[in-house]
Amino acid sequence: MQGEPVLPPAIGFAPMAEYLELFQTDILGQFLNPKKRLFLGYLFTAFLISFLWLYLLRHNNVKQVFKTIFSPVVWLSRSSKLDVVCFFINRVLFVALRPMLITQIAVATALYHFLHYQNLFPLGVFSDTSYALSALLFTTCFFLLDDFARFAMHYALHKVPLLWEFHKFHHSAETLTPLTVTRAHPVEGVLFTLRSAVVQGTTIAIFLFLFGQQLNLVTILGVNVFVILFHGLGSNLRHSHISIQYPKVVERILMSPAQHHLHHSSDIKHFDKNFGVALSVWDRMAGTFLHSTNAPFTFGIGSETKQYTKTIGHMYFLPFIKAAESICSLARTKNTIFRNYNYISKQEANEEFKETRKC
Ligand SMILES: [Zn+2]
Ligand SMILES: [Zn+2]
Repeated sequence: MQGEPVLPPAIGFAPMAEYLELFQTDILGQFLNPKKRLFLGYLFTAFLISFLWLYLLRHNNVKQVFKTIFSPVVWLSRSSKLDVVCFFINRVLFVALRPMLITQIAVATALYHFLHYQNLFPLGVFSDTSYALSALLFTTCFFLLDDFARFAMHYALHKVPLLWEFHKFHHSAETLTPLTVTRAHPVEGVLFTLRSAVVQGTTIAIFLFLFGQQLNLVTILGVNVFVILFHGLGSNLRHSHISIQYPKVVERILMSPAQHHLHHSSDIKHFDKNFGVALSVWDRMAGTFLHSTNAPFTFGIGSETKQYTKTIGHMYFLPFIKAAESICSLARTKNTIFRNYNYISKQEANEEFKETRKC
């Protein structure tokens, strides 16, 4: 019997179609999900804050305000165009890598079971606490730990020479727009994803273990009120050309957009300062705090900016070459130290031997 010809299965097409669907959802999610910084609502509030800042406090007229906010010198600069290209490349890579990265739920589940089997504390020891108080405690601790971990990771990205090579990707921006926040090397992207999985997963597991049923999934997986406030009150202006400053007393607690601008300065006196994201208290504790300034400065990494942003290939691959060079130079330094150490030890041993022979 002659039937329909049996066609081979379309190997490769189904995963590709699936990938494209995931990619599309991911891109749309960046602008439509209130958990994401680039959510359209937050971009709109950033615009409103800029408008009010320039109109009411800088006394610009409406035409000047629009001219400043949508300045083509910023939005159409080479640096901003690179931000757009990097945004798409990074999303393509992230959607492909995401299944391989550990999630906060995996960390939370593993730690919850670990705490259960270790029997260090009784399960649900604070389960009598009211829902409102436990939700408030959870939200506050979650926000504080997450913000501190971001500060610590950012500090390491600057202070560890190997990591700094990858973080230069972000600092090579010569103009700042809200999209610059996504201008991060994939190595940094992976590190930040692992950081949030570990810190957030650990907080969730400990609170679920201690507070039990008081915390439901809506509290845990819902949007954190502090995150809404941080983004709604202009987190996107951290990467912008609107230099919004807070009163000095506020800047000692909250990081103003102008303080993050200073973090991007190519002036050596601003290097390695203001690592914080929402709070600036961590910088005050670490001695890396600076108040914002009205004095003009430029963004970038000085003479290296041109080298790092020569082509997209330079941006993505040069950090690996520089990192390999820094590992080699570290190995050479270690060898020298080790050789010197051996030499000194031998010398000392000979001196000791001579001393014993004198007796
Ligand atoms: Zn930085
Ligand atoms: Zn930045």
